[in-house]
Amino acid sequence: MTIFGDYHTHTVFSHGKGGMEDNVHAAVNAGLKEIAITDHGFGHSFYNVRRKDYEFMLTERDRLQKLYPQIKIYLGLETNLLNFDGDIDISDDEAKKLDVFICGYHKMVRAGLRDFFEFKIPNLAADMTGKQSLKRKIKNTDAFIKAIDRYDIDIISHPSYGIEVFADKIAEAAVTKGTFMELNGKRVSMTDQEVEAVAKTGVTFIIDSDAHHPSRVGEVSLPLSVAKRVGIPSEQIANVDKLSCFLSQRRKSQ
Ligand SMILES: [Zn+2]
Ligand SMILES: [Zn+2]
Repeated sequence: MTIFGDYHTHTVFSHGKGGMEDNVHAAVNAGLKEIAITDHGFGHSFYNVRRKDYEFMLTERDRLQKLYPQIKIYLGLETNLLNFDGDIDISDDEAKKLDVFICGYHKMVRAGLRDFFEFKIPNLAADMTGKQSLKRKIKNTDAFIKAIDRYDIDIISHPSYGIEVFADKIAEAAVTKGTFMELNGKRVSMTDQEVEAVAKTGVTFIIDSDAHHPSRVGEVSLPLSVAKRVGIPSEQIANVDKLSCFLSQRRKSQ
């Protein structure tokens, strides 16, 4: 199994070490046919892309695309789930500018007072102490399902990372909508049993590096080994032995 495109990578515009061109260059060297630059969304506390930088990144994408015609370059964002209502740190207009719309849970996100006390702090505390709560797990799961319903999310990044959820229930919503569940190159936070349950829903997975350094672009040995161990067929992975086709792009061309 080989990936044809890496659709989740970071640059200096958020938490990464390289520039956009460094990631593109690394992707070309890794033999990839497509690369997405997907820095952290506007609401991240420390590593957010600034809105005016995003405008620059759009022009940089176009400049690089002319320089590197051998690879298709996407520009997206890894947006943040904000609360139990399934809100995300992006406006509908901003979402329309994304080539790839990733959404994930990150603990360090700027929150209003209610989201801070209801959602951020309890999940942060649970992650630090390992104290589980079925009620919160259900509410977290519902938050992702609401987000999937409301937005045209292409990829749910690193499911279960830092937050207790029923990943298979999120996958059920994802399969209806056409959203992909990620097997992440840095970490797979789901157990093999959870990955198996997610696979059984029939959802499509996607395998990405989540590279924070150009040298890690295309590095997906960890999620590939999980996919092999659990027995996920390549047909059920969006970018293995083929190029991915995203929900948000299909919506734009409709
Ligand atoms: Zn992330
Ligand atoms: Zn990431």
